[in-house]
Amino acid sequence: FGTLPDLIRANALRHPDKLAIADDDSAISYAELDRLMNRIAAALQRDGTAQRQAVASVSYPSVAQAAVFLGTLRAGSVAAPIQPSATPEQIAGMIADSGADIVFLDAANAAALSGQAIAARVLMLEELDAWLARGDAAPAPVTIAPGDGFNIIYSSGTTGIPKGIVQSHAMRWQHLSRNAAAGFDRAVTLLATPLYSNTTLVSFLPTLAWGGSVVLMKKFDARRYLELAQHYRATHTMLVPVQYQRIMALPDFDAFDLASFRFKTCTSAPFKPELKRDVLTRWPGLLVEYYGMTEGGGSCGLNATEHPDKLHTVGRPMPGHDIRLIDDDGNEVPPGATGEIVGRSPAMMNGYHGREQATADATWVSPQGERFIRHGDVGRFDEDGFLILMDRKKDMIISGGFNIYPSDIEAVLAQHPAVADGTVVGVPSEQWGETPVGFYVPRAGTTADAATVLADTNAKLGKTQRLSALHATDELPRSAIGKVLKRELRDRLAAGEF
Ligand code: ATP
Ligand code: MG
Repeated sequence: FGTLPDLIRANALRHPDKLAIADDDSAISYAELDRLMNRIAAALQRDGTAQRQAVASVSYPSVAQAAVFLGTLRAGSVAAPIQPSATPEQIAGMIADSGADIVFLDAANAAALSGQAIAARVLMLEELDAWLARGDAAPAPVTIAPGDGFNIIYSSGTTGIPKGIVQSHAMRWQHLSRNAAAGFDRAVTLLATPLYSNTTLVSFLPTLAWGGSVVLMKKFDARRYLELAQHYRATHTMLVPVQYQRIMALPDFDAFDLASFRFKTCTSAPFKPELKRDVLTRWPGLLVEYYGMTEGGGSCGLNATEHPDKLHTVGRPMPGHDIRLIDDDGNEVPPGATGEIVGRSPAMMNGYHGREQATADATWVSPQGERFIRHGDVGRFDEDGFLILMDRKKDMIISGGFNIYPSDIEAVLAQHPAVADGTVVGVPSEQWGETPVGFYVPRAGTTADAATVLADTNAKLGKTQRLSALHATDELPRSAIGKVLKRELRDRLAAGEF
C-alpha cells in the first residue's frame, strides 16, 4: 500500500525545492523533509521502537514536531502527539497509555512533565540533530496494512477523561481522498491550531499528501495570523470558530489583502450563523464547515458559500457517510424528529486505545447489524437533509420533564447588544431537577448590568427555557482549540465562585 510517507517521497522527487513546512523560525523543503523523515525513522529503529508502537510528542506546532510525526510513520510506528496544555499528571498518563517509550518535548513546554516519573525516554526537539541517525542511512522498509495504526489522538476531554483514539492508515486515506478536489496541490495552508488535534491534521496531512505547503503558527494571534496570510499568500486554512471571531473583530481586518484565499474551513465547535455570514461577506474564498468527531462515524459538510440559506445547519452527510438519529431506547426516530446522532462511514476509528468497554459503549448496532459510532450529540434533519445540531447529549438540560437545549438559549443571549460571548449550562435544582444558568462576557463599551441582560433575555425565551441566573465573567473557559469548557463552569458554580 502507498502510505502518506510514500506520497511525500513522490512530492520530493517532483519538486525537491518546494516549501513543505514553515513555522515561526524555520522552514523545510520537500527534499529536506523527506531526508529528515528517513533519518528520524532510522534512529527510531536503531533505538528499538517497534513497528506499530507509539512515538509521543508534547510540543507547540513546529517543523520539528511535524517531522517527528511523519518520520514515525515512515518507521511504521504510530504518531502520538499530546496536548501540552494538559496537567503534568494527565500528560504522563497519556504517554503511558500510548505505550510510547520515547517522547519528544519542546523547550517551551519543558515544564509539562515536571514532577512526573516518566518511564519513556524524554528527548528535546531542539536537540533532535544530535540524536538523529548520521548520513543518509535509509530505514529498514516496513510493510503497512490498511488497518495499522497511523496515529493516536487523545480526545479533547471536553466531556470527561481524554480517550486515546486510534486512527488507521485506511481512515486517513479517507481524509486525503475527500480533499482530492480541494486544490491542495497548489495550496499554501496556514494553520494556527495544534498538531495533537484532528482539527489541524485534516488540513495538514492532505496539504503534504497532495504536495502543497504548510505554514504552522506556534500560537494563535489574530493580527499575526493576518500578517502571515498576507506574507505567504495563503490559499487554504482551517480555523476554529473562536479564531474566526477574533480575526473578524480586528478593527483593521478589511485593510488586509486576503485575495489569495480559496478554501477556508472550520470545525470542532458551534459556529454562529452571524459569524459565518460575516466571514462570507468580508473574506474571499470558499467557506466550508465540517461536523464530525475524531472517532470518525459520520461527518457532515456545509459549503456555506453555496448554501447561504443554511448557515444554521452543519450541512449534509458526506458521500459514504450514513448518519441516523436514535431515541433513548436506541430506536431510530421518525423523519424530522430530534435524536442522538450515530454515524458510520469508511472513516472509523479502530477503537479507544486499551479501552474495550468505552469502545463498546460508543457503539450502536442497527437492526440490520451494522456498527455505528455514537456521537454524543443531539440533532435533527431539516426538510432538505441538512443537519441542525442542537447540543451535546451531556449538556442537554432536563427541567421539569422538558428537554431544554442550551444552544437555543445561547442563540437568544448572543443577540443581546451587551453580550460579547455567552454560554448556558444546566445545574441541579430541587424544584425542577435541573435548571439553566447563563454566563456572559460583557461587550466593551456597554453598560447594561447582568440583571438587565437576564430580564431582556428571559423576555424572549419560552417559559420552560428561562434562565434562573446569569453571571457576568471576564472570559469563558475554553480548551486549547477553543471549545467552551462547560464542565469547568458547572464545577466553579458549584464551588460558589459566582
Ligand atoms: P471528548 O470526546 O473528550 O469530550 P470532544 O468530543 O470535544 O472531546 P473532538 O473529537 O475533537 O473531541 O470533537 C468532536 C465534537 O466536537 C463533536 O462531537 C461535536 O460536539 C463538536 N463539533 C464538531 N464539529 C462541530 C461543528 N461544526 N459544530 C458544532 N460542534 C461541532
Ligand atoms: Mg467526543
